[in-house]
Amino acid sequence: MTPDRLDRFARHIVLPEVGGAGQAKLVQSHVVLVGMGGIGSPALQYLAGAGIGRLTLIDDDLVEASNLQRQTIFGTEDIGKPKAEAAAVWLAAFDPALVGIAHVTRLTRENAAELIAGADVVLDGSDNFATRLAVSDACVAAGIPLTSAALGRFQGQVASFAGHREGHACYRCFVGDAFDAEDCDSCADTGVLGAMVGMVGAFGAMAAMRVLLEGVSTLGDPQWGQVHVLDGLKPALRTMRIAKDPECRACASAA
Ligand SMILES: [Zn+2]
Repeated sequence: MTPDRLDRFARHIVLPEVGGAGQAKLVQSHVVLVGMGGIGSPALQYLAGAGIGRLTLIDDDLVEASNLQRQTIFGTEDIGKPKAEAAAVWLAAFDPALVGIAHVTRLTRENAAELIAGADVVLDGSDNFATRLAVSDACVAAGIPLTSAALGRFQGQVASFAGHREGHACYRCFVGDAFDAEDCDSCADTGVLGAMVGMVGAFGAMAAMRVLLEGVSTLGDPQWGQVHVLDGLKPALRTMRIAKDPECRACASAA
């Protein structure tokens, strides 16, 4: 890293849990973000801040005025623009040294493998189970770790999965097969507090960094299969361990 890059990441490098080796790994990493909404937006800010060298940004939606109370990278001038492209513009302004790749498309079972190819970790902040299961199954098939971050009103859930590895659960082991159909659990119906989804997005960014730093520095404990459940109202945090489902149709035969 050049002196100006070392200076930019100095507060990471002095942390024993990250260190120079950890920062070097972050700089070389490729993170795929699925969904540039309330979770993806703050997650992108912290991943870009951490110097993640390559960021793939996937979303098929356009920025709406009602997104702006929580989707922090967008401003009034972005209304009507594709979120993925507006996110890439934000990224280029924030740190031109990082590579951003925007895909204005909806991730589906058909295109998932292509969209996540080459990722070191996929951070899923999408807003429906059909997408989440498509992402998870593609990650298991490709041997790519998945960090999942989700929000329902004031309950956040953040977990990392390595279902492609022996003895480790995948996201499908966690939620089961009942949610493959297109459903609607979007924020339009239930409401969402901007600061709450911001906590979950930042939590997800940190969980993804733990995955990236596995075997590199002490922050690199991915806590595979541990679902952290954040109650934003109390506030409180509890953690559930998810066991690998021996019958799981995504990961049972993968390891
Ligand atoms: Zn599984």
